[in-house]
Amino acid sequence: RTRTSAGLIRAEEPVLAHNYHPLPVVVARAEGTWVEDVEGRRYLDMLAGYSALNFGHRHPALIEAAHRQLDRLTLTSRAFHNDQLAGFAERLTALTGLDMVLPMNTGAEAVESGIKVARKWAYDVKGVPADRATIVVAAENFHGRTTTIVSFSTDETARTGFGPFTPGFRIVPYNDLAAIEAAIDETTAAVLLEPIQGEAGVIIPDEGYLAGVRALTERAGCLLIADEIQSGLGRTGRTLAVEHDGVVPDVLLLGKALGGGIVPVSAVVARREVLSVLHPGEHGSTFGGNPLAAAVGTAVVELLETGEYQRRAAELGVVLRGGLEQLVGRGVVGFRARGLWAGVDVDPAIGTGREISERLMREGVLVKDTHGSTIRLAPPLTITAEELESALASLEKVLGG
Ligand code: PLP
Repeated sequence: RTRTSAGLIRAEEPVLAHNYHPLPVVVARAEGTWVEDVEGRRYLDMLAGYSALNFGHRHPALIEAAHRQLDRLTLTSRAFHNDQLAGFAERLTALTGLDMVLPMNTGAEAVESGIKVARKWAYDVKGVPADRATIVVAAENFHGRTTTIVSFSTDETARTGFGPFTPGFRIVPYNDLAAIEAAIDETTAAVLLEPIQGEAGVIIPDEGYLAGVRALTERAGCLLIADEIQSGLGRTGRTLAVEHDGVVPDVLLLGKALGGGIVPVSAVVARREVLSVLHPGEHGSTFGGNPLAAAVGTAVVELLETGEYQRRAAELGVVLRGGLEQLVGRGVVGFRARGLWAGVDVDPAIGTGREISERLMREGVLVKDTHGSTIRLAPPLTITAEELESALASLEKVLGG
């Protein structure tokens, strides 16, 4: 029995947890920048799976790598070695300029793992007394949904009802160097930051902020952990968003696009001194570093090695910025953009972010609101200038109507 979009949406209601409020579109297939719903309507994907689809849907090189690996070996667990993992780790360390990789699956797992590694480094290397390590984080952060991660969220919707919370975090305002300096003391294991705060609405700190944090952490002898799960892997016009400020973190958290939109792949990538604190039995994951994930992850790194996607994001970012500038005062009250990534504040008199997203959906463009009247634009980096311009034209239309 073929089911309609409306029928499938109704069918979810009694059997799926209501922890999301999706736009009423039921996607059945996709290719590149385009998705198609159950009735065959086509939409331009301007969200790209929250940046998990930086290379578009079903990129041929990634699909081929996945198929090749599906036909040979999919899972070993880390009880044994597999023939894909060494190559993946070698390429990822070369791409990022760091030394070692801890492979995990989801973004939240990479963040959790980064926290554990930083704490262990604080005890084993820095000499912080047992169970006293602290980590400095920023207000309005988004690092995932586990109990420890929501413990240091400032979003009450994400926290309420989920306590008791994990201690050991100090929350400071984002983009405020003095606040970080004041929060660091001899117990500080790390400062954990998004180089650009994605879920908060694509909040870009002042130039020099990240370099300042780098200098502070070096001086204080604590780690800098950059959560590039959303900002990394080409999105901002560079491989990593920290590059805009000339910063190399001690610990880099990657996810989303690392799995090419095919499988969940995340990683903690770090300096040798840091990841060397882990010994057999102290941390792990059944699926982390599985051969299918490693094969797809390797193919993702190979795409990034060409520099083509970073270049596209930088060049088309100029088109995106130019288009949004045209809309300021005409329905847009402000925006922040870097590369192919923008947070756009819509005049609340015109509609909520949700309402604008629904109107864009009816125009054949998929976006997602973040907070209030902010919508986020993050198309696949494979988008063409014409497609981007047509999405901007649709935005102009829904803001005017
Ligand atoms: N960190 C950042 C910066 C994110 O944007 C996200 C997801 O949006 C996460 C971590 C969590 O990733 P996941 O949903 O794969 O657990």
